[in-house]
Amino acid sequence: MKPIKDNLTEIRERITAAAQKCGRDPHTVTLLAVSKTKPVSALEEAIAAGQNRFGENYVQEGVEKIQYFSGNTSLEWHFIGPLQSNKSRLVAEHFDWCHTVDRLKIAQRLSDQRPADKAPLNVLIQINISDENSKSGITLAELPALAEQVAALPNVCLRGLMAIPAPETDPERQCAVFRQMETTFRELQVKYPQADTLSMGMTDDMDAAITCGSTMVRIGTAIFGARNYSVS
Ligand SMILES: *Cc1c(COP(=O)(O)O)cnc(C)c1O
Repeated sequence: MKPIKDNLTEIRERITAAAQKCGRDPHTVTLLAVSKTKPVSALEEAIAAGQNRFGENYVQEGVEKIQYFSGNTSLEWHFIGPLQSNKSRLVAEHFDWCHTVDRLKIAQRLSDQRPADKAPLNVLIQINISDENSKSGITLAELPALAEQVAALPNVCLRGLMAIPAPETDPERQCAVFRQMETTFRELQVKYPQADTLSMGMTDDMDAAITCGSTMVRIGTAIFGARNYSVS
């Protein structure tokens, strides 16, 4: 396993190359470092190498890390895991973003529970674009109604869409799915100009996601190495 610093350099180069290949400005793609299951020492290495946005999947683990790093106000914390309503308060109180809004009840709770002294919580609506086995995310047909409801809430800001497509190794088939997200995102932006974020692309499909308009890639393995769930 190479140092995290070197992995970050490589990922940034990969983002730049993928963006330039399709005529995009590399600065329009934000790198979210997915640090779930990783110790704070790994995050410290990433922070020392200039990374300041982190994604966490598990509420308790994420909150512990946010509290550990609370002295560093330049960090931005994204909740990217499935969210149960009984955990919404912790997300509303501690995180800056939530990528996995997929029903009004959760969005409503996040808005109600967002502390008054904080900026509105940035939220993305999760679309289930291709994964029949996953219960997370809404269908494209459900998006217009949910977007309207979420956009009307006072303490959350609808910033865009997120997707986790079913695993697929062929870049062209990866792209076919991402293109549907891109089209949907462009349509959403017409009605909601504050929606500037399309969160898609992980270690194995990042290049295709960037080709298809992703503005935020969520990268874990390529930065921190493989995850070992048995010891976490
Ligand atoms: C774990 C995870 C990632 C990172 O995946 P890698 O393949 O390790 O880059 C991205 N997004 C979500 C929602 C995840 O749960």
